[in-house]
Amino acid sequence: MEFYSTRSEKHTAGAARAVLTGLAPDGGLYTPLDFGSMRVDMDRVLTLDAPELFAEIVYKILPDFGEEEIKRLVPEAYAGKFQTRDITPLVKVGDRFVLELFRGPTSAFKDVALSVLPRLVSLARKQLGISEETAILTATSGDTGKAALEGFRDVPGTRIIVFYPEGGVSDIQKAQMATQKGGNVRVCAVKGNFDDAQTGVKLIYADDEAEHWAKREGLRLSSANSINIGRLAPQAAYYFKAYRDMVRMGEIKNGETVNFAVPTGNFGNILAGEFARRMGLPVGKLICASNANNVLTEFIQTGVYDRRRPFFRTVSPSMDILVSSNLERYLLLAGGSFELVDELMRELRDKGIYRAPEHITEEMQKHFDAGWADDLTVKQTIGEVWREHKYLLDPHTAVAWKVTGDIKAQTGDNTKTVVLSTASPYKFGFDVLDAISAQRPATGFEAMDVLSDLTGVPIPANLAELKELQPRFSDCVDKTQMLAYVKEVLKG
Ligand SMILES: *Cc1c(COP(=O)(O)O)cnc(C)c1O
Repeated sequence: MEFYSTRSEKHTAGAARAVLTGLAPDGGLYTPLDFGSMRVDMDRVLTLDAPELFAEIVYKILPDFGEEEIKRLVPEAYAGKFQTRDITPLVKVGDRFVLELFRGPTSAFKDVALSVLPRLVSLARKQLGISEETAILTATSGDTGKAALEGFRDVPGTRIIVFYPEGGVSDIQKAQMATQKGGNVRVCAVKGNFDDAQTGVKLIYADDEAEHWAKREGLRLSSANSINIGRLAPQAAYYFKAYRDMVRMGEIKNGETVNFAVPTGNFGNILAGEFARRMGLPVGKLICASNANNVLTEFIQTGVYDRRRPFFRTVSPSMDILVSSNLERYLLLAGGSFELVDELMRELRDKGIYRAPEHITEEMQKHFDAGWADDLTVKQTIGEVWREHKYLLDPHTAVAWKVTGDIKAQTGDNTKTVVLSTASPYKFGFDVLDAISAQRPATGFEAMDVLSDLTGVPIPANLAELKELQPRFSDCVDKTQMLAYVKEVLKG
């Protein structure tokens, strides 16, 4: 199956090449268009156990890797790495369902995809007969970085550099990255916000001179960001998994629609839900939940994407994003032409604003609802859900929880709703504690202990051990110096 660059039908790639290069040569994102061939037999999916189900969905999206390879590789990627064999447990909380995507090695939903991606990269290298090293450059708003470092650490033939916005991640997230083990990893702060870091990485890919330099050094550059199609495939799987669980719990009958509420930043998680819908999952609405950086709320409600607005640092930092990369894929899927997407992305870059044509906005509003919540409301929500249900939400998940309630109240839609939970509350212990208690410890680490004493919710082992580990990385560069840094680290 071919993947198309969002910006031109000239640039196509098979699964291996799309995964290995990350971004198309014209700056577009590789996207599947033929969802007919990816239709899922729901009766069959409902009989699969979690690792089989994940393998089935990944294979549907990336068939040219080979069925045998995918069905071996995917279960291996999860085995022993997640807290439960179930990979992503579904928990009933009040009248909603929380899909816990954070039970992996770094306590963020990114683990679901980044446990699989390094294996796909290795397989792609083998299938394409590539001997150069693959250098993964990744921009992170906090969680991708750690999950990617953990996924790629000591994977033969790969090296990885992660850039994060200085001051833009929680102290726990920073410690997670700074203490990363492995001989092929580097971590560097960027003076700027996430959009600066992401733009910097994209510029390096688009830079011909950088590409030639990499070639001379015997390297190929690639990406672990959600612009990589290898990230989206495993993410589509957990939508099916949640649905399977609801049928098994007797909450719905097979065929009944379910809504999914998604804490959204780069639009990767929720786009995987759109993939699932196109593959045959009975999805009602995908609820796009944002924090004060509410550019997507406005876009879904009006069709105008306007990034010319203040950037806010919020208590849900992994969603502090004004340029949502994966939206470009949706524009194409929703009926845009390659030329149109190319034009809109040019307008976004040059003017900071674009308006989607009417037919795209209508299609989008048929399948998406959107809303946002500010920090104060998010903390109130964490407090309320804790007091009412004794369930501890992290600030990202709380955004989605709050928006779900708002939309229910506005529309009267009573469809059963799954809230995707994207992080352990302990990654953001300081703000979560603030939401349920008057205690003010000095650091996120102390907050973890207090929070666990107070709630009895266990601290995930990977976070509990952090304070014992020595930081290894403290580099920091200006956003204009990212390429120079990459060359320095990777040379020789
Ligand atoms: C990355 C992340 C998000 C946003 O996901 P996107 O795919 O970028 O929309 C939300 N919550 C957490 C905790 C994250 O790490």
